[in-house]
Amino acid sequence: MEKGQLLYQGKAKELFQTEQPDLIWVEYLNQATALNGAKKDQIKGKGELNNQITSLIFQRLDEKGIRSHFVEQISETEQIIQAVDIIPLEVVVRNIAAGSFSKRLAIPEGTPVKFPIVEFYFKNDELDDPMIIEDHIKVLDIATDEEITTLKTMALAVDEVLSELFDEIGILLVDFKLEFGRTRDGSILLADEISPDTCRLWDKATNEHLDKDIYRRDLGDLIPVYQEVLNRLKGE
Ligand code: UDP
Repeated sequence: MEKGQLLYQGKAKELFQTEQPDLIWVEYLNQATALNGAKKDQIKGKGELNNQITSLIFQRLDEKGIRSHFVEQISETEQIIQAVDIIPLEVVVRNIAAGSFSKRLAIPEGTPVKFPIVEFYFKNDELDDPMIIEDHIKVLDIATDEEITTLKTMALAVDEVLSELFDEIGILLVDFKLEFGRTRDGSILLADEISPDTCRLWDKATNEHLDKDIYRRDLGDLIPVYQEVLNRLKGE
């Protein structure tokens, strides 16, 4: 497989063409951002940790019947994915109150949520990714009723598999963000990444953050924490 032209420059990843139109070459970068890009740093080693963690998680989801765009990991920082048109939604699932949910509703962080909830945010930097309701998604022609149902069903299925996976390695899956894309034939695939950048992970024994809140909240060095998540996922 050959790495072709740069197709998309993201905050944490670069996407390149390959000689096969349906396959994309992804490089995970060391850049960390928060506050919609207002806070930005290069953190050596972050790209390879997120690439490895995402690859392991997508493989585990695939084994459990949840298909994603992931094809294969080809190096420490690179993977091959299937080309999809990203649906401009961030689909957030919450098991435990934290972050914006706690702030907006004045529910202390750490309070269990009665049942896993699914929220939608409109991926739009200019608007600062506002939360949107299902009618907005339909009015803006972002997704159909049927697709919204699929997104919710898939997001909850991912939650079930990942909650169990993390529980087995002593980690509480507090909340996470997913993105989805459409393939050429219109079917919906899980896409983007699933890593400590996109999940809140708390150590079950100590309640310590094992995720990007370390960076967002200036709690210390992110690398040993992401490494710990990878080690536990690998059973080390
Ligand atoms: N999240 C993400 N990207 C975003 C916004 C949120 O990956 O642009 C993840 C975040 O890591 C957390 C979950 O989605 O696991 C819920 O985030 P929240 O709405 O609480 O926002 P925050 O307070 O983290 O900005």
